[in-house]
Amino acid sequence: MSKLAIHGGTPVRTRPFPSYVTIGEEEKRAVLEVLDSKVLSDFLGTWSPQFYGGTRVRKLEADWSAYFGVKHAVSVNSATSGLIAAVGATGVGPGDEVIVSPYTMTASASCVLAFNAVPVFADIDAESFCLTAETIRARLTPRTKAVVVVDIFGQPADMDPILDLARAHNLLVIEDAAQSPGARYKGKYAGTLADIGVFSLNYHKTIHTGEGGIIVTNRDNLAERLQLIRNHGEVVVKNKGTKNIVSMLGFNFRMTEIEAAIGSEQLKKLDRLLQPREEAAAFLTKHLGGLPGLTLPAVLPEVRHAWYLYPMRYDSRQTGVSRARLAEALKAEGIPIFEGYVEPIYLQPLYQEQQLFGTVHCPFQCPHYKGKANYGKGLCPVTERMHYDELLYTNICHADITKDDLSTFLQAFHKVFDHMEELRS
Ligand SMILES: *Cc1c(COP(=O)(O)O)cnc(C)c1O
Repeated sequence: MSKLAIHGGTPVRTRPFPSYVTIGEEEKRAVLEVLDSKVLSDFLGTWSPQFYGGTRVRKLEADWSAYFGVKHAVSVNSATSGLIAAVGATGVGPGDEVIVSPYTMTASASCVLAFNAVPVFADIDAESFCLTAETIRARLTPRTKAVVVVDIFGQPADMDPILDLARAHNLLVIEDAAQSPGARYKGKYAGTLADIGVFSLNYHKTIHTGEGGIIVTNRDNLAERLQLIRNHGEVVVKNKGTKNIVSMLGFNFRMTEIEAAIGSEQLKKLDRLLQPREEAAAFLTKHLGGLPGLTLPAVLPEVRHAWYLYPMRYDSRQTGVSRARLAEALKAEGIPIFEGYVEPIYLQPLYQEQQLFGTVHCPFQCPHYKGKANYGKGLCPVTERMHYDELLYTNICHADITKDDLSTFLQAFHKVFDHMEELRS
């Protein structure tokens, strides 16, 4: 078989892999209609009919509610804003702890800090990469008020035991479904499994509006709080007659009519965009099986995975070749393969130095906080093992990838694994 590209041989692939494109004529037409209307946003930060936004914003919210079978959808300008609003809606504040995952995009944890509460990191499960009821239970204290569970890489967390635990301890659960629109758990959509769900519509996600997000909930009181936080709540509560104003600082998290119009078109495509992801993932799983040291992604029972990413685990002890060396050899063959995903969030400077509001170390060391924030190395061993040692992933499971692309991806893997002994030295 031919020489490894890393040793000067010909790469399996020289053309780049196709990028993922979801924007077409439908979105173009929708945007032009908004431009022709001249009303690019129709929100007002006052208690008026426009408090809830313009016609396209409201249509996207109605479309989203209908599709996901949830009572309220509240659009926002990003999932980061959505997570902040969700934490605010729970009423969390100084002295409170919120349990979060360390293996996710930073905002799934930093949303807690916006309300001067303390993120407490629980470990992930090595199969699903999500929090579990057991890892959450290990971090419960009398100060725990809520949990942010992330459906990472497109797979919903095993939510039923998490909800049971949360009910028993009077905690609210926020589900970060940014990477998993259309995924399902026991027949229900990811994002709708907990008290509040948050979706992202940023450019990199399965469907997008450039930037954007949607928050969903079945509870009227939470929906009202989300709408107030989205749009300058403190100015509105008096005229609106809202009594509970705890953690009700408002922001401008409003989505424009342009993004909303794109969002309604994107939502129509979601089903069509998911099927090729599933097919690509099934193809990889079928043909990558049996390679030494490589564990392919497990799908939990009664779950439909949305395959935002295709995560694999690699055990270098079985081959004697480090993950870095293997990844280097695979990349040299011209395929998109990445190591580690994100650094455990608690190891970021923010948590290590605990500098946030001014220089007084609030909320980590504040008179209202009776706990002790632990962000030490070793806190979440599974997460650290995935990041530093085991995780390899690719982003090629999507609708614009062809069978031919998938075949070259497999060829590169088989070629490198056939030459493993040459990588050992
Ligand atoms: C992308 C992402 C977010 C943030 O989404 P934005 O819309 O970019 O703010 C939050 N959580 C997870 C898991 C994500 O992947």
